[in-house]
Amino acid sequence: MLQPANSPAADPVDILLVDDQPARLLAYRAILAPLAENLIEASSGAEALKHLMERECALILLDVNMPVMDGFETASLIHQHPRFEKTPIIFVTAVNVSDMDRMRGYKLGAVDYVTVPIIPEILRSKVMVLAELFRKRRDLQVANQHLAAANEQLVAEKRRELEMLNESLRIANNELAARNVELQSQIADRVSAELRLLEVNRRKDEFLATLAHELRNPLASLGNALNAQALSPRADPLHEAMQRQLRLLVRLIDDLLDIARINRGKLTVQHVPTTIGAVLDSAIETATPLLSADRHPLTVTVPDRSVALYADHDRLSQVFSNLLNNAAKYSPAETAIELVAKSDADGFEVSIIDSGIGLEAGRSEEIFEAFAQVDTSLERSRGGLGIGLTLVKRIVELHGGRVDVHSDGLGRGSRFTVWLPLLPVPATAAAPPPVATPATHASCRALIVDDNHDSADTLAMMLQMLGHETQCVYDPHDTLGAVESFAPDVVFLDIGMPGLSGYDVARRLRAAGGAVRTLVAVTGWGHAEDRRRTAEAGFDHHLVKPADMAAIASICGGVAARVHHSA
Ligand code: ADP
Repeated sequence: MLQPANSPAADPVDILLVDDQPARLLAYRAILAPLAENLIEASSGAEALKHLMERECALILLDVNMPVMDGFETASLIHQHPRFEKTPIIFVTAVNVSDMDRMRGYKLGAVDYVTVPIIPEILRSKVMVLAELFRKRRDLQVANQHLAAANEQLVAEKRRELEMLNESLRIANNELAARNVELQSQIADRVSAELRLLEVNRRKDEFLATLAHELRNPLASLGNALNAQALSPRADPLHEAMQRQLRLLVRLIDDLLDIARINRGKLTVQHVPTTIGAVLDSAIETATPLLSADRHPLTVTVPDRSVALYADHDRLSQVFSNLLNNAAKYSPAETAIELVAKSDADGFEVSIIDSGIGLEAGRSEEIFEAFAQVDTSLERSRGGLGIGLTLVKRIVELHGGRVDVHSDGLGRGSRFTVWLPLLPVPATAAAPPPVATPATHASCRALIVDDNHDSADTLAMMLQMLGHETQCVYDPHDTLGAVESFAPDVVFLDIGMPGLSGYDVARRLRAAGGAVRTLVAVTGWGHAEDRRRTAEAGFDHHLVKPADMAAIASICGGVAARVHHSA
């Protein structure tokens, strides 16, 4: 808002009055005094320029008619200077200026003209407007400067905030990267620990398999010696007990081998046509020694013994003999044990029920895990490795079945139930294994090749007791020579021998042709894959150490019968 003419300016501005006549200067001063601005006087264009160099003026009141340098020349010089090019000029002319002069003045940047005689109100109001405009512009400039400063400050503040944010982000990023590195190293540690564990586990399984296999050699010698002793006329009263313990040892070793196979995923089943009756008979026969030792009466209920199965006869019989053995082991002497079988169109179910120590609630899952035993305290130990039920479960699963246990609690007996699907017997399925040729009293010539002297000698002793002629070879390289000189009808060959394996010897014997009709592998390895390999190498029979006397007698009997028949 404009100041009233008589009130002093709040913030006076400089006004330059330029005139060569002091009286006129005085008159301007008198007219403009009420405006209370700073009035600066100059008596020439040069002096005006000098003043302008020292201060910024809101406007210039410039006399046109001055000696030396007139108003127009002065205005031209002033407006050439970049600092004053916008400074408004009011020209004062003594006479009426022509239109041409006006034009000239406007080109030089004049904003207005006053003529002499000056009308004070007109001059005052013109000056007042221009002074006010200047003040406003100056205020605007200051406000602009403040704004620019505030803006700069804001930008600086924002930049600082951004930098701080960036810095904390960088720190967080670094921490994250460090944590990442730490995590990665932890993961690497875990992976390597896991690999180490897997390796240790693999070695343990390998060790179990090797241990079981290595134990078979001394057992084979013991078994052979016991078999030979059984055939001797001098009966030993300890013989039965030793046979029993040997059978137990063989079972433990078989279990160990099986668990190693389960752990390596190598346990397989060989489906053959059989019947429920045949499987259960074989299981009961295996469990009879333990059942009778503590005089457990066994009740067997099998409505239809002839139900046809297409399953692994030996492995299924192992399932039920394990369950029967457990029923005997975990029940007080003389308590009854029951075996109940049922079947329908889909499958059959066999339950083995005892009234023994039973199971605590919640333990029924864990007993199927390898090496799991509910009570390992010495006084409650019933022997065993905690493998039997793991095998049961795995074999049943390999047949597509399941096994469950139920007990009403400790001391209240247990019921193990196996359910198995009934698989149709394929038309092409192999016929049941032929019944072994009955032993005859005819004798044959048997060559035994085994680097383990005791194994070879005890087998020879047993064969001699059975009435056969024998010769032992302890170095497999001597086999062909011995075959030539001894002319055996049957050769019993160990498989794992140093320098030359039983497979190699068998192949050489088959390649050489000749009279040897029957080759028997006697080995610690009894898996299907091992049997396939011996058959491929040209063997006729595969016996697992310690070989069963009945099996040996049957093979030799058959050989002897053929030899005598063809002789
Ligand atoms: P083992 O008999 O060699 O210990 P198993 O795998 O056959 O191994 O059995 C595992 C555990 O399950 C046994 O140690 C025993 O605690 C428990 N168990 C098995 N059968 C019975 C049963 N009929 N009654 C009570 N407990 C049993």
